[in-house]
Amino acid sequence: MRSIVLNNKIIEYDLKHSSKKNVNIHIKPDMTLAVSAPRWVLKGELERILYNKSSWILTNLESQKRLLKENKTNILENGHVIWFMGEKYRLYYKQADKNFVCMVDDIIVVYTSRVDDLEYSKGVFLKWLKAMAAEEYTELIEKYRNKMLKKYHIPEVSLQVRAMKSRWGTCTPSKKKITLNLYLMFAPKEYIECIVLHELTHFLEIYHNEHFYSIMKEFMPKCKQYQRELNKEYSLISKNI
Ligand SMILES: [Zn+2]
Repeated sequence: MRSIVLNNKIIEYDLKHSSKKNVNIHIKPDMTLAVSAPRWVLKGELERILYNKSSWILTNLESQKRLLKENKTNILENGHVIWFMGEKYRLYYKQADKNFVCMVDDIIVVYTSRVDDLEYSKGVFLKWLKAMAAEEYTELIEKYRNKMLKKYHIPEVSLQVRAMKSRWGTCTPSKKKITLNLYLMFAPKEYIECIVLHELTHFLEIYHNEHFYSIMKEFMPKCKQYQRELNKEYSLISKNI
């Protein structure tokens, strides 16, 4: 582990050499800074790059610290607080003959046939979450497609739900297909709606240009704000599971 002083704070970072041309910086879920750089970048040059990026680094470290403190990380372990559609729940695993999941008040109980095997039990929870997501997302796609159909042509789409690390959704217009991130289920409904609308809008405009956002705004005036808040508040969740 190397370290550098940025704005009077000692920041530790992990340096990896990569074959890519650029220096890449990101913050890992455990709050350490990961830097990857080509082998030929000298230490002084690397530190200069880190200095130039210091406000980005410090702001992001601060906000990740806050999210960790507020438990917005969804560590799927027994007794942990997790987020489900923007609400806090406590997650418990209990031994049972059959796998199933129950939600009572603010508790989610995962009944699992192998309670001592956390990876297995997490799988039971995630399988249930995927079924819930498929139902929720399908409903929201229908809702927004119907709204948009009054003015635009949007084809019937097929939905894929997938656990993704770095994107909330993707749209493949040629295949009439939308893929939505499973972990979007942890975020409040309005944020999920925002991504659904975003992907549907791609059937009318491929690029994230003014035209794109003017269409989105017709159906959700606060779409930009929601997208920003979603990334700020919930991006750590999807990276930490
Ligand atoms: Zn997009």
